[in-house]
Amino acid sequence: MQKFQLLHQYLKQQGIAHSANTYRPGTAKMKLLQTSHCPDYLTRFVENKLDAKELRRMGLPWSEGLVRRTLISPVGTLLTCQLALKYRIACHLAGGTHHAHYDFGSGFCILNDLAIAANSLITQGKVNKVLIFDVDVHQGDGTARILADQPQVFTCSVHCEKNFPARKASSDLDINIPVAADDTTYLQMMADGFEQALALSEPDFVIYDAGVDVFVDDPLGLIDISLQGIRQRDHYVLKRCLELNIPVATVIGGGYDKDELALAKRHAIVVEEAAKLLQAFG
Ligand SMILES: [Zn+2]
Repeated sequence: MQKFQLLHQYLKQQGIAHSANTYRPGTAKMKLLQTSHCPDYLTRFVENKLDAKELRRMGLPWSEGLVRRTLISPVGTLLTCQLALKYRIACHLAGGTHHAHYDFGSGFCILNDLAIAANSLITQGKVNKVLIFDVDVHQGDGTARILADQPQVFTCSVHCEKNFPARKASSDLDINIPVAADDTTYLQMMADGFEQALALSEPDFVIYDAGVDVFVDDPLGLIDISLQGIRQRDHYVLKRCLELNIPVATVIGGGYDKDELALAKRHAIVVEEAAKLLQAFG
C-alpha cells in the first residue's frame, strides 16, 4: 500500500516530520520476534514455506519485499516505544498488525508488533505494566490471544461488534460498538472504555493503536465516525496520557480507501494531535 509513504510525505509538508524528529528502524532479530511468535512459523514465513491455506488466511502474497518490510515494522513499533519513554509521546507511521497470532498470520497481519513491543519492553525491565489500547474498528484478536497469559500487559479493544474476526478472542477488556454508531455514541463508549482500562490496569506505559477504519466511508468499517470524531478520539486518549504522565506510543492501525492521499491524511490525524499536545504541555 502507498499510504505509508504518502503519510510520511504529508507530515513533512505540514512541517510536523523533519530530520531532527524522524528515526528509521532496522531489521528485527529472530530473538525479538520470538518473544511473541512460534520460531517454526517465523522461519517458514521468511523462507516462503507457508502453505496455501496459511497464505490465504494471511491475505497477502509472499514476496521478498513483503518479508523485508514485515521484519522492519515491529522494530519501528519498539523504537517508537523507546522514543515515547524519552519524549512522552512518539508516533509510528506504520504498525498495528493486531490480527497476527502466535503461529499464523491473518487479516493482512503477519507479525504482531503490539505484542512484540510490549513483551520486549517488559523483558528489558523498561516498564512494569503496559496497556494496549486498540481502537481499530476490528478486534485485536491476535494481541489478546498472544498476551492472554501475560499479567504485565492489559489488552483493551474497542471495536465494532459485528465486524471481522467472526470468532472474537477475549481481551482483558472488550468494548463492543454497535453497527452504524455515530460520533456521540462512539466517543462516549471509547472514553468510558479507556478510563476503565486505565483504572483496572494502572499502566506505566500505553501503546495506542489509532486505526482509522472507524471512518464513515471506510469500506471495511461498518460504523459512522467523522474526521472530527477521529480527531476528538485521538486528542482525548493522548491528552489523558499526558495528564497522567504515562508515556504513549502510537501506531496507525487499519484504514482503507481507494483515495490513498485522503487515507494518509486520515492516518496523519493522530500525529497532528500528538504534535499539538506536546507543544501545549511544553
Ligand atoms: Zn482494522
